[in-house]
Amino acid sequence: MNHIHIKEVDRDTRELLQENFICSKCGKCCSMTLVVSNYDILKIKKQGYTDFYEQDILGRNVLKMNNDKCIFLKEVDGSFLCAVYEVRPKGCSDYPFFNNILMECDAVEK
Ligand code: SF4
Ligand code: SF4
Repeated sequence: MNHIHIKEVDRDTRELLQENFICSKCGKCCSMTLVVSNYDILKIKKQGYTDFYEQDILGRNVLKMNNDKCIFLKEVDGSFLCAVYEVRPKGCSDYPFFNNILMECDAVEK
């Protein structure tokens, strides 16, 4: 995996960026290891999915990957879409904003 750039931002900056954020559906954030909570797992299971997560070496539950991409990532006409978008894990819906940390994302001004 490539090195991921993160940046610290203050609350006002984060809120401003978040208000104007429009995901470009590049799919890059779906090639990172994503830790899921029990609640995330439950929501996805309710959609009928069963074999979609595993434990990493630290014992955390993470989404399974296929060719270095999340198994739920689908490419449609050059855009990347999430097969479980409505019930996607919190880490996915929050991305790239995590409190004062701004993760690498092409749709956010550097
Ligand atoms: S990296 Fe940013 S622009 Fe690309 S899919 Fe993720 S949130 Fe959207
Ligand atoms: S669950 Fe959806 S949004 Fe989250 S990493 Fe997988 S494809 Fe991307």
